[in-house]
Amino acid sequence: MKNILFVASECVPFVKTGGLADVVGTLPKMFNKDEYDCRVIIPNYRCIPDKFRNEFQYVHHFYMDMGERFNSVHVGIMEYEYEGIKFYFVDNLFYFGGDKPYADTRYDIEKFIYFSKAVMAILPVINFRPDIIHCHDWQAGLVPVYLHTLYKDNPFYSGVKTIFTIHNLRFQGIWDIKTIRSLSGLPEYVFTPDKLEYKKDANMLKGGLVYADYITTVSDTYAGEIQSGYFGEGLDGLLRARNQSLCGIVNGIDYDAYNPETDENLAKKYSVRTFKKAKAANKAALQSELGLDRDDNRFVISIISRLTDQKGLDLVRYALDRICDEFTQFVVLGTGDGQYENLFRDYAWRMPGKVSANILFNEGFAHRVYAGSDAVLVPSLFEPCGLTQLIGLRYGTVPVVRETGGLKDTVAPYNEYDGTGIGFSFANYNGEELLATINYAKKVFFENRAEWDRMVARGMKTDYSWAGSALKYQDLYNRVLGW
Ligand code: ADP
Repeated sequence: MKNILFVASECVPFVKTGGLADVVGTLPKMFNKDEYDCRVIIPNYRCIPDKFRNEFQYVHHFYMDMGERFNSVHVGIMEYEYEGIKFYFVDNLFYFGGDKPYADTRYDIEKFIYFSKAVMAILPVINFRPDIIHCHDWQAGLVPVYLHTLYKDNPFYSGVKTIFTIHNLRFQGIWDIKTIRSLSGLPEYVFTPDKLEYKKDANMLKGGLVYADYITTVSDTYAGEIQSGYFGEGLDGLLRARNQSLCGIVNGIDYDAYNPETDENLAKKYSVRTFKKAKAANKAALQSELGLDRDDNRFVISIISRLTDQKGLDLVRYALDRICDEFTQFVVLGTGDGQYENLFRDYAWRMPGKVSANILFNEGFAHRVYAGSDAVLVPSLFEPCGLTQLIGLRYGTVPVVRETGGLKDTVAPYNEYDGTGIGFSFANYNGEELLATINYAKKVFFENRAEWDRMVARGMKTDYSWAGSALKYQDLYNRVLGW
């Protein structure tokens, strides 16, 4: 049996702000249980729903030193088994008592330094010695650093390997060296430009990338892109240097959680055989729910996303007047930057019946938007993998995407000459290209509905479950352990 420990800041069904949570919550279920004992550790946020928190079992608590500033910090350990996977929750109300998982950067830095150190300290207490600690994103960046510094002579951790997965290179956990040094208790020698130092500051993600045995990211294209100056977020040199220990493994989606045949959120369930009528019913229900004009003969295009620059929303702003013609309805579900929240609120106010702005986060509602839309728009500036296009495909909702990162790897563009492809895509980060691509999609939708429906069926049949990618992670684990 190989022991794997996932370390992350969010995980479905407990806490989710983006795709990271979907991956961390789903992938452990997909491994061969006879060969891998995969467990997950996340913070015990106060904002995890009570229906889960009330079921958590207390395991133990102790006090931990944390660098120069604090020498006696509470670490509680809670445990909960869910769908066959053991989850651990690091308990500390001071750090995790907020109403959402992340707050301002300085506070988050301290929070996840604490979290990383607590993860290391907990392992002997729960008597789980991982063969591999699989760290996700900057919040877990210091785990490999601790392993190779403060814990390097401790026999319990001897031979433990680490894998670091980059879900988004933009977020790195950067603060001044003095603060990070004193909060983390890490030795001075790690704060050099070949290790954690980054433009005179300290960078927690960089620590993970330097010290991990292997690095993965969530699509092949993104694995290549991040080794270039444009996408490398200042770390492309390091990633090029680690090129031999870096690969892309594309994300899947949970085919049980996202299944239009069994989805209780929908007005009408459907499969690839029944989608035509059922999607019309879901569209009508969505139009009613959102107060849009109830008309099957409108093209409903949606964005379900964090509302940030990464997601290509300035292109949407540029083209929105022309996207919203009399044949089209535009739906947004998302939260994020005020400028985009207000942009969409403004359009919804000016174009009632045609534009719907839902500035909120709601999983069940998201499922209804996927099911009731004809197309899902993902025009990202960069996109490590992207899950919304995969969920769209599963729900027979045609993705319209920009060819970057995982969007490029997962959405084969429609080819009208040989009748292949499962979505629409454009190459350049340009509002006119975005508009032309949406208009092309509309043309097929309105003028050649049979072709459109065949494309929907092809998309629904494409396998983006975790099965294939989970095998790739298993291969990687075996390779790393064979070293
Ligand atoms: P990212 O991780 O960059 O936010 P992904 O496409 O990888 O983007 O994952 C986004 C996930 O979050 C998807 O499961 C999507 O359905 C979900 N999501 C995004 N915004 C909302 C929202 N406002 N309400 C419900 N789900 C949302």
